[in-house]
Amino acid sequence: MIRLFWRAGSIAGPGAADCDGAHTGQAGRQDGMARRRALELIGATTLATGLFLAETAEVMAAAAKKPPGKDDKPKPPARRRRVVIDAGHGGSDPGTIGARGTYEKEVALAMARELRRHLVATHRYDVTLTRDHDEFISLGERVQIAREAKGELFMSLHADAIHRPDVRGASVYTLSEKASDARAAALAAKENRADAIAGIDLSKQKPDIAAILIDLVQRETKNRSATFANILLPELARHVQMLDRSHRFAGFAVLKAPDIPSVLVEMGYLSNREDERLLTSAAHRTRLSATLVRAVGHYFDKQPLTASS
Ligand SMILES: [Zn+2]
Repeated sequence: MIRLFWRAGSIAGPGAADCDGAHTGQAGRQDGMARRRALELIGATTLATGLFLAETAEVMAAAAKKPPGKDDKPKPPARRRRVVIDAGHGGSDPGTIGARGTYEKEVALAMARELRRHLVATHRYDVTLTRDHDEFISLGERVQIAREAKGELFMSLHADAIHRPDVRGASVYTLSEKASDARAAALAAKENRADAIAGIDLSKQKPDIAAILIDLVQRETKNRSATFANILLPELARHVQMLDRSHRFAGFAVLKAPDIPSVLVEMGYLSNREDERLLTSAAHRTRLSATLVRAVGHYFDKQPLTASS
């Protein structure tokens, strides 16, 4: 449960598909215009289609150093992807407390460790946990840990509670439109822009260029977060009970890394006895981990490695 960071009215009424479907065309045009504008401003002549993070920095550097068209396609190196798992709450913050006294912080940490074990076993991932102990870590620190680790996917694990004991099921949150819009402006306005976006030093850029680049990266991050959520939701639905309208949107601070695709998974309701039983069961953790690992695998299969990543 993360009500402390809830923004009133930030949960979208319709499901993800409704929201995304209505705006895809407009966002696509804006992306194209913003990219062209960024190109004009930075004077580059080529820009990889997958404009993102270090890829962006690489392309900018390449455009500055060498004429386009030469050695543009070095062999992509095989490497592990970095997944960051964030066990919600911890230390003095127990999170929600279940009908039988289960602490959310304990459920989240046990699940984070189990998920790490499963991810590492595939040999496809390096895994960072924002906490591996019962300790309090602020939301800002969690995002910072993920960014310092150069995370490529961020999953925050939680369990919810509500005053209706019959309500149960899992849900997935991504950052709401409003929250991500406001973020680009705030980041660009910051005096210290040097590390606003991984791999791109914006400190020497003019504010309008910095704002455009941050906006581009944020859009891409938001798209990738939605891509992962859209892979994860049906995968979860095959194996665990889901909440109605299981893709939700909110301004959760822990989802606000501008350059790391992020989702928050509410694994179920500790206020529901059946969910509480499942969330404290090792067998269920194993099943849930296997499901998450499959979704992570499908997601990265769709995100090809580039020379710079
Ligand atoms: Zn929580």
